[in-house]
Amino acid sequence: MKYPSVHIIIKGAVQGVGYRPFVYRIAQAHGIRGWVRNDGLGVMIEAVASKEGLNTFVRSVTTTRPPLAKVQSMEVKDGPYKDPPESFAVVQSERGERIDVDITRDSAVCEACLAEMRDPANRRFGHPFVNCTDCGPRYTIIKTLPYDRPGTTMADFPMCPDCAKEYASPGDRRFHAQPICCPNCGPRLSCTDVKGVPYTGENPLRQCIDWLVGGKIMAIKGIGGFHLACNATNAEAVSRLRSRKMREEKPLAVMMGNVENAGRFAEIDVQEKELLESLERPIVICKKNNIAGLAPNIAPGVPTLGIMLPYTPLHHLLFDDGRLSALVMTSGNLTDEPIVYGNESAFQRLGAIADAFLTHDRDIYIRNDDSIARVMDGAPVMLRRSRGYVPEPLPSPDNVNGLIALGGVLKSTIAIGRKRMCYLSQYVGAITTIEGLEELRRLIDHFARILDVTPIGFVADLHPQSIVRFLPGIDALPLVHVQHHHAHGAACMAENELSGKALCVVYDGTGYGSDGNVWGGELLLADYKDFTRLGHLAYLPLPGSEAAINNPGRIALSALYATMGEKAVEALPWMPSEEKNAVLDMIRANTNCAQSSSMGRLFDAASAMLGICKKRTYEGQPAIELEGCADVNETGEYDSLVSVIGKEILIDGAGILLQAYHDFRKGAPADKVAARFHTTMARATADMVKRAIEKTGCAQVCLSGGCFQNALLLMRTNAMLKESGIQAFTHRRLPPNDECIAYGQLVVAGARGKFD
Ligand code: ZN
Ligand code: ZN
Ligand code: FE
Repeated sequence: MKYPSVHIIIKGAVQGVGYRPFVYRIAQAHGIRGWVRNDGLGVMIEAVASKEGLNTFVRSVTTTRPPLAKVQSMEVKDGPYKDPPESFAVVQSERGERIDVDITRDSAVCEACLAEMRDPANRRFGHPFVNCTDCGPRYTIIKTLPYDRPGTTMADFPMCPDCAKEYASPGDRRFHAQPICCPNCGPRLSCTDVKGVPYTGENPLRQCIDWLVGGKIMAIKGIGGFHLACNATNAEAVSRLRSRKMREEKPLAVMMGNVENAGRFAEIDVQEKELLESLERPIVICKKNNIAGLAPNIAPGVPTLGIMLPYTPLHHLLFDDGRLSALVMTSGNLTDEPIVYGNESAFQRLGAIADAFLTHDRDIYIRNDDSIARVMDGAPVMLRRSRGYVPEPLPSPDNVNGLIALGGVLKSTIAIGRKRMCYLSQYVGAITTIEGLEELRRLIDHFARILDVTPIGFVADLHPQSIVRFLPGIDALPLVHVQHHHAHGAACMAENELSGKALCVVYDGTGYGSDGNVWGGELLLADYKDFTRLGHLAYLPLPGSEAAINNPGRIALSALYATMGEKAVEALPWMPSEEKNAVLDMIRANTNCAQSSSMGRLFDAASAMLGICKKRTYEGQPAIELEGCADVNETGEYDSLVSVIGKEILIDGAGILLQAYHDFRKGAPADKVAARFHTTMARATADMVKRAIEKTGCAQVCLSGGCFQNALLLMRTNAMLKESGIQAFTHRRLPPNDECIAYGQLVVAGARGKFD
């Protein structure tokens, strides 16, 4: 008797996520015969059964999926009537084909594995490396594809007979779980001194906890690198960590055992809870609630707290002990350097910061820092996209096969194209050194290998002095350039899958403009190929450029000088008069003054003008503290001062700052003035956009740039655009900051098609 059959092809990040046992179990439940296998395209299924049986099977397979799978497409084709095979089988992968599958992302440990780890009767009781097909490390341990144990850093650990049995059983949760292991065959923890010499005690975990409780700083190996950890309730330990890491005021992330505990320290709404407990487990920026008990120097000067929940079994074990309620868990790196991930380099680079190490012998192949997210204006926004999210691809409107985009410099990422998909790397940090460039090169080669793509060209920023000119191998392939803010706009457009033209509002710190000036408060009319600059924040001199960025009072002085003239010297009573005179001399003589339209710098100026942040000790600090200070219930605003001069729509930023200055001088409190300043910038943005719509007829609006990590600015801008019937597109999958640049560069180069 012949039965109907169906073929199903599932594409995306579908291998190494337990898809075959998942299908196998559904097939078993519905009496389906046939097979499932992995191949170069994805997961292939052939199912043979009665009409009704097939229908329920197809419905089940197409509407449910394993937790870690990211399905891009699913194709169901009716096959011929045939004699059914004996049973349903998981068939071996076929080798030697072109690889077109995606690499799976790293995932937090699943509930089933956690339960085993906490069950004294289970053979994995207390095992810090427990994992299964539904959870565990992936991207960070994969060296080559196809995804198989020998191609991962687990190759060094031969499976014991018990693990091998689970690995080979199609019905088992660990069927073909490549990182499978147990206390008999898996990696081992060790607690060592700063030179890597192990302590002799038999329980390294308990040793580490004892020391954390006692106030020591521990370097702890995680999924994508080392953390520097200390007891978050011990202010003295936190301040020791700060001074050794030379991190004066930048907020530190805190790990709490569970969301209930986190709720003691911060206000956590439904969306934030969902993010915190997601498999991606980013650091979530929440509103501080009651910091009593938590060291006050964890996040000084801001009303927010970066929280994450445990994501490796080892993290859970640290909290299960019960003596720790919150741990500072900051990236193990030196200032601006990428996170340290190798054991040897950890001892070398972190040995002067940590008192001791909790490490193990499973290598991390690719570093991957913690991701950061924040719920803003009712939806999650990525502030750093790394562990848990990378390397999920993004769409491209045009073919980008073989193109490699080199991104920005301070929040560096690379993007590589395969057909019409863009693979954006994790956050690499600031690329300011040759070592940084070598890391970038390694990442490019790694992506090209795992994606099976042959590079055909590079895409870089327009800046003639950009450090990527020194990237090893840059001369081997053609190179094209894309303007920084065009890349921002194109990234936002492509992420939202827009076509045609869009009005792109891009507010950030710095980007090299087509006219050689420092841009950063831009309104562009853009498509994927090109752009015209319709408007911007009026230029202001940036006295002493780099020094002005670190001393935002100088920018405030420059802006006030532009409107008040010589009377500006009376402003900013806290600034030494020698400094004021030196700055004003530079402006008067127009020496060492770049012309800047940067919105980021204007926010810095407002912050300094109000005396909130006079000295910048980390990127974004003045603006972050200005936002933190603003009274969100305040509704007042100043004149938005938008005008058309020549062909350009200009926002008079200095004029807006002057109004804020007068308001403040008359006695308005800083929190009110800060809020009015935000509201006015949002109003000015909406006014500028409205004029641009009248002029161009284009009503598709995108918002990008690091300034839109400011929740208050984003919320007010969205609200004012909505008053005019405009629903702006914003970043949801990528950070609005310079991490999105590489993606924008890639789609622009693809649209121009210069490499075809
Ligand atoms: Zn698991
Ligand atoms: Zn084992
Ligand atoms: Fe930027």
